[in-house]
Amino acid sequence: MTKIAVVGATGRMGKVLITAVSANEKATLTAASVRPGGEGAGSVDAGAIAGVGDLGVLLVDDLAAVINQCDVVIDFTTPQATLEHLEICANANKKIVVGTTGFSPEQLKQLQTFSESHAIVFAPNFSIGVNAAFHLLGVAAEILGGDVEIDITEAHHKHKIDAPSGTALRMGEIIQNSLSLNGHDDQLNYNSIRAGDIVGEHTVMFVGAGERIEITHRAMSRMNFATGAVRAALWLEDKSVGMFDMQDVLGLK
Ligand code: NAD
Repeated sequence: MTKIAVVGATGRMGKVLITAVSANEKATLTAASVRPGGEGAGSVDAGAIAGVGDLGVLLVDDLAAVINQCDVVIDFTTPQATLEHLEICANANKKIVVGTTGFSPEQLKQLQTFSESHAIVFAPNFSIGVNAAFHLLGVAAEILGGDVEIDITEAHHKHKIDAPSGTALRMGEIIQNSLSLNGHDDQLNYNSIRAGDIVGEHTVMFVGAGERIEITHRAMSRMNFATGAVRAALWLEDKSVGMFDMQDVLGLK
């Protein structure tokens, strides 16, 4: 049984992560944290926050106080908070699954440094469907590169801070790698929509003379990200060092 701590427990993803951990028979929630001074710390059960009934895990506002109760931390918070959590994990020799997006290049280096002595799964998108789309995009770029305009459009809820999304940037990276391997340097355009409660949609258009291919992924709920993150946490069990992503977890590399 893998013991999991969910940080950012009262966030949109935090609540769904608690539900996903409690539904997985190979995982158990042993700790849940909120930001320092955050609501419910010391008094509210994590299961009650997620709407799954009490799990016997009280929210805390200091991950360091409960870090020894878990094997793996799952973190979907903010770049700054994730870096603080990394330090706590490094000191306690714990593994981490990071879904937070919007890191600066400088902050990304700190994730890399962590991975030199600890195990981390870091992915801009934990959905299995999106990771299948990543694979298809590489193939499409390989076949179509040089002759098409490539346009990446993503849409998310109005509270999402970073744009383009981490997923759109990763899609762009995969396409560009595939293009350059085949001697092409087509330009990519990014469009971002922030509106209402859209969970997450990505469409890549390869537009050629008189035709176009579109590859679209639509997330209908946050549960697909959460089940992917729990799968990543279980997958980390026999890893002690390294930077991994969802393609590693799914065996797509
Ligand atoms: P949210 O704002 O609803 O939740 C973030 C939570 O983190 C908040 O509850 C906040 O209080 C908490 N937090 C901030 N600082 C903290 C600290 N020091 N300690 C503990 N908790 C702290 O945001 P969200 O929609 O849940 O998204 C969170 C992140 O996950 C974003 O970066 C988003 O882009 C990313 N995300 C990634 C994926 C993926 O598959 N990789 C999917 C969805 C969202």
